[in-house]
Amino acid sequence: MRSVSVLGATGSVGESAFDLLMRAGGPAGYRTIALTGGANVARLAEMARALRAEIAVTAWPDKLEDLRAALAGTGIEAAAGPAAITEAAARPADWTLSAIVGAAGLPPGLAVLRRGGILALANKETLVAAGPLVMATARAHGATILPVDSEHSAIFQALQGENLDSVEYVTITASGGAFRDWPLERLAQASVAEASCHPNWAMGQRITIDSASMFNKALEVIEAHEFFGLENDRLRVLVHPQSIIHAMVSHRDGGSIAHLGAPDMRHAIGYALNWPRRAALPVAPLDLAALGSLTFAEPDEARWPALRLAREVIAAGGAAGAVLNAAKEQALDDFIAGHIRFTEMAPAVEQALERASAQPGFAQSPADLDEVLRWDGFARRAAAWQGASA
Ligand code: NAD
Ligand code: MG
Repeated sequence: MRSVSVLGATGSVGESAFDLLMRAGGPAGYRTIALTGGANVARLAEMARALRAEIAVTAWPDKLEDLRAALAGTGIEAAAGPAAITEAAARPADWTLSAIVGAAGLPPGLAVLRRGGILALANKETLVAAGPLVMATARAHGATILPVDSEHSAIFQALQGENLDSVEYVTITASGGAFRDWPLERLAQASVAEASCHPNWAMGQRITIDSASMFNKALEVIEAHEFFGLENDRLRVLVHPQSIIHAMVSHRDGGSIAHLGAPDMRHAIGYALNWPRRAALPVAPLDLAALGSLTFAEPDEARWPALRLAREVIAAGGAAGAVLNAAKEQALDDFIAGHIRFTEMAPAVEQALERASAQPGFAQSPADLDEVLRWDGFARRAAAWQGASA
C-alpha cells in the first residue's frame, strides 16, 4: 500500500486531496503518514482520524493542547510549530503533497526533497522563492517534483513524450480574476471582500486576491521558468475567462498541444497522485458544446502590473524571486489588514525589488535556506506599510 503525507491538509487544495484519498477508500486505500494544518485543529483531527494518520501537526504552538485533546484515545501523535511540520515532512512517505500557502512551505518541501521523495507541489511559493536551490536539491537526492498548480500540471501533461527543445513557447492562461472587467479607475477602491471572489475557482482567500491582482499569474510564470527552465521569450500569458484551457505548449513545427478540463483542482492533484498512470477522478466531463465558445485576450499590463514584475524578476534572477514572493506576501497582508489599497500592492513589491537590487549579493541565487530567509525578511521590511505617520 502506498504511503502519503499532506502538508496544508486543511486548506482548499488539502481538502480536495482529502476528498480523493477518502474516495480511494481512506485508510484502506492509502497509508497516511503525516497531515499538517493551521488553526483549525478540529478539522485537522477529524481528517487524521478518518485517514488514521500517524501524526497530525498544527503550525501554531498555542493550538497543541487543543489538537491533543481532539486526538485523545486515537494513538495518533500530535505536534506543533514550523519545525514539527518540517520533521513530519521528513518522515518517509511515498508521496507528499505540499499545499501549505506562502513561503512557510519551503522548509518542509526541501525536507521531502532531501529524503529523495516524490513532492507533489501546489505551493508555488517554494519554486518562486528558491527555484534553483529547490531544483538542485531534487537532483542531488534523486527526488521527484510533480507540479500540482493546474497550469503547470497542464504543461507537464502536454510535454509527455515531447522534447522541450522543440517548444517555441508555452502559454499559461489566466481567468482575469475578480476585476477583469472593472473600469481601471475603480480598482483603487476595490475592497478585500470584492477581491476575495473568484469567477471560476473556489480557492483560499490569499490566492483568490492574488488572482484579482494577477500576482498569482506572476508567481506562476516564475514557477514555470524555474520548473521547466523556460526564459521570458518562451513564456506567455493569455486571458481566458472560462478557465477551460489551463495551458498550451506550442512547438516550432506550428503544432500546439492544449490541456483542457473543468476548473477543479482534483484533476491536477489526482494526476500527481496516480502518476505515472491515470486513474478515474471525480471531475466533471468536458462539455464543449454546452460551453459554446472559449474566448481569449491579451493581458493588459496597466490593469495587471504584476505580470511586468514577473518578467523583470525572471530577467534579474538571483534573489529576485525570493524578494518578489515575500514582498507580495507582505503587501497582501497590508491590503487584507486595510492599510493599503488594492492598487498599492504592486508598487510596494516594486519598491522592495528596487531596494533589494541595490544590496550586495542580489545577483546570486540564494545558496541555502538561511539565505532565502534573509532576503525574505529584507523584502517584507522593504514592502511593509509604514504606518499612518509615513
Ligand atoms: P489555503 O489558505 O486554503 O490553505 C493553506 C493551508 O496551509 C492550510 O492547511 C493552512 O492551515 C496551512 N498554513 C497556512 N499558513 C501556514 C504556515 N505559516 N505554516 C504551515 N501551514 C500553514 O490555501 P490554498 O488555496 O489551498 O493554497 C495552498 C497552496 O496551493 C498555495 O501555495 C496556492 O498558491 C497553491 N494553489 C492553490 C490552488 C487552489 O485551487 N486553491 C490552485 C493552485 C495552487
Ligand atoms: Mg494555478
